[in-house]
This record gives sequence, structure tokens and C-alpha cells, in this order.
Amino acid sequence: MTEALQEGRKAEAVRIGVLALQGDFAAHAQALREAGAAPVAVRRPAELAGLDGLVLPGGESTTLLELLERSEFLAPLAEFAASMPVFGTCAGCILLAEEVSHPAQKSLGALRATVERNAYGRQNESSIETAPTRLPGGPLEMVYIRAPRIARVGEGVEVLAEREGYPVLVRQGRLMAATFHPELTADRRVHRLFVELALRERGEREK
Ligand code: GLN
Repeated sequence: MTEALQEGRKAEAVRIGVLALQGDFAAHAQALREAGAAPVAVRRPAELAGLDGLVLPGGESTTLLELLERSEFLAPLAEFAASMPVFGTCAGCILLAEEVSHPAQKSLGALRATVERNAYGRQNESSIETAPTRLPGGPLEMVYIRAPRIARVGEGVEVLAEREGYPVLVRQGRLMAATFHPELTADRRVHRLFVELALRERGEREK
């Protein structure tokens, strides 16, 4: 490949932002890199410009909300989530939902789902499970940390994996959400799925 061509390819890399206010954003950035995307740390609304998608990482959703409100970032984020690819994991999944319970709190209202916080109780706060999913390539290792539960999904929400009968990985058009932490295992299938989705969406926008 010529140098010019290589440069061209690089410029085309899918730019995926990772909300970097709180939580495990560094692991997501690394996972996105491994999945072939160019990660971008996002700390201010202006940094959403030019992205092909955004990851909302895990952490603590109440803290995350407070930080977002304080920096007047909640409305721009809701606007982004209303039209662009967004992948929320754990606290990010809580943030993305249209309804949050246990206790109720504000959210971006993008994912047609009700998400119940800290749903597994003290004893089962954290666990690692290997379970089948609808992704190609066999069972997936899933790390749960004070995980929420997707208690209800609305129309158009595709369930890609379940735990005890509840969805743990879902897709709704250009949105994805997981109640576990795909960035903490070596399997890159989940991030790759999101990167492919963001690439496809970019293609659609450029038509
Ligand atoms: N329990 C946390 C919350 O309610 C989410 C945990 C996580 O992101 N690992 O925000």
C-alpha cells in the first residue's frame, strides 16, 4: 500500500468518543482501539463534534449525572443520543434509558427500556459469568459490577444476551447497551459490533 493510501485509511478511522468524566473510560478507549476505531476522550459538549459514535462507560450513574448537570452537558448529550450511535455500559446503560428505577433518576431518555439500578443485591454485587449470546463466535465472558437490570424493553429493542431471563445486551437501531463491562475482558466482539454499527451509520449519513 502506498503512503498516501495508508494516510487516507487512517483519516477514515471511525472516531468513537468515550465520555471521560468518571468511571472506567481508559479501558473502553483501549477496547475501541483493539476493535479498529480511533477513541476520543470527551469531557465537554464541544468535543462531541465530528464523532461517529459515543461510549458511555460504567461508573456511578448518580455521580455521572451530577457532573453532567454541573457542566451543562446533559442536554447536548441527550441531543447526541437522539440521532447518533451511542453505546452505554452499566452506569452508561442507566444513563441511556428512558426510565430508571430503584431509585428513579434523570436520564437521557434514548433507549426504550426501564433500568433498575443495583438490582442484584449485596451478595451478588459482582460476578463473572460466561453465557451464550446472539453474537457469532460462542459464549461470552461477562463481568458484572453492581450491575443494573434491564427490567423492561420497549418496541424495536433487540435482545442480544440475557441473564436470568432479563436482557443484558441490547440494540435499538443505532443504540447499544450492556449491563456488564465488555471492556474488562479480552473478547472484542461487543465493541466490534458497535464500531461496525457506527461505521454503517456514517455511511448512511454520507449518502
Ligand atoms: N451501580 C452503578 C450505578 O447505579 C453502576 C455500576 C457500574 O457502572 N459498574 O450507577
